[in-house]
Amino acid sequence: MGVARGAQGTHGGPSRSANFWGPVGPSGPCGPCSELYFDRGPDHGCSAPDCRPGCDCDRYVEYWNLVFTGYNMGEDRQLTTLPAQNIDTGMGLERVAALKQGVDAVFLTDQFRPLIELGEEIADKRYGENRQVDVALRVLADHSRAMSFLVADGVLPSNEGRGYVLRRIIRRAARFSRSAGMEPPFLERFAARTIDLMGGTYPELHERQEVILRTVGSEEDRFNRTLDQGLVLVEEAIGRAEEEGSKVFPGSIAFQLHDTYGFPSRSPARSWRSRTDTRYGRLRLVDERPAQAGATGAERGRCLAGGHRPLCPCHRSSHGVQGIRA
Ligand SMILES: [Zn+2]
Repeated sequence: MGVARGAQGTHGGPSRSANFWGPVGPSGPCGPCSELYFDRGPDHGCSAPDCRPGCDCDRYVEYWNLVFTGYNMGEDRQLTTLPAQNIDTGMGLERVAALKQGVDAVFLTDQFRPLIELGEEIADKRYGENRQVDVALRVLADHSRAMSFLVADGVLPSNEGRGYVLRRIIRRAARFSRSAGMEPPFLERFAARTIDLMGGTYPELHERQEVILRTVGSEEDRFNRTLDQGLVLVEEAIGRAEEEGSKVFPGSIAFQLHDTYGFPSRSPARSWRSRTDTRYGRLRLVDERPAQAGATGAERGRCLAGGHRPLCPCHRSSHGVQGIRA
């Protein structure tokens, strides 16, 4: 059943093999790890002669991991022994559920499937037939649970801290749903199904049902209005570029789309609506001319060049209330 991969280098210092975990950032606690796999049998495998745990195919499912946190990695990448060592052990509850229920993925277990089915119904598409749709349905199923529980715990969408995390989750769900061809609004239905599905075990979902539905619905509404405004800008910019015979999407508009409307920094139109995709695709990425207000030109240039991260400092101060951010 289980196939354990032994921790390597537990004697005489660690070996930095695949069986070494961490640190999360450039420095911090880390150590050797061992992974437990479930062998689902050759029928699920790729038949390659070197197929074994860790292979990209579906045969071996990692369902448990133990990290022997014994070291601290410094900024200079040197390891020192931690004064208090521990073993961090974690089993993937939903992976075990998938194995017990004999399904191929956690999204097909009884705690996800009803949400996937709701997505199938709204999009009028089947799970498992198109990768882009599958990704969207999985994002929706996962984010529906996250947003419902966050609101149940008292979090409301905002531009800071946990409220910002919630805002991003709701807007990301809404954005992916468009790529599955869903016509909004519908996130309330996903929240309602989450409450039906999990409210028996988590009564706070029922107790906070009204505020969950209202919060999710109004945030989706705000997002859609912002998105539509941004798409008008995209269309106008593309139209102007075509008129001028330019092959370049203006960097100042790209920055505005990103900074004010939260569009992805690399491709303001791509992944939003296919009708703009084709036209946008004829243009080169974006130019890197700095826009006017806020951060310095150098910072803007870096962001438009695609180095942006969600908490990139050049966006924090001036980010609009309507931010979507990918
Ligand atoms: Zn394989």
